[in-house]
Amino acid sequence: MGFVVKIIPQDHTDIEGFYAGNIVKYSNEGVTVPTHTDDLSLAKVYKRRKNAENALNKILKECTFVTECEVEEIISDDVVKCCRHACGKPLTDKMDIEYSQELGEYFCSVRCAEDYYFDYMRSIPLENIIEETEVVYFKNGKLYQKDLYNKN
Ligand SMILES: [Zn+2]
Repeated sequence: MGFVVKIIPQDHTDIEGFYAGNIVKYSNEGVTVPTHTDDLSLAKVYKRRKNAENALNKILKECTFVTECEVEEIISDDVVKCCRHACGKPLTDKMDIEYSQELGEYFCSVRCAEDYYFDYMRSIPLENIIEETEVVYFKNGKLYQKDLYNKN
């Protein structure tokens, strides 16, 4: 059993559906919209009402065209699966299960949770940033960041 957040936009031409997890930017439209799905079975199910309420508040705060959301109760007897999509193992009492209070999701292991968190934060090693952007650099062994707004 769980809950999902249903998105009800101001205008029917705006995106309608179920909240599927992340807030993403549609850069070509210049607006922030929640990742959504029209298919309830693909929607992220929030295990506790509080998590669903958190998602609802996030949507209302970040999406100007969404004026209304609803928390819908979902009845399901499905086995809970690991939240990391590449894994998706059904969870059992033999696993070292981790729970994310932020996401309201479960992971089969600490490893899966860590992988998900790193992906979610789009975390990459510093050397990639140095190679690609040259915005940060080392001087005398210490890390500095270029001041892009002050050209002195
Ligand atoms: Zn897993």
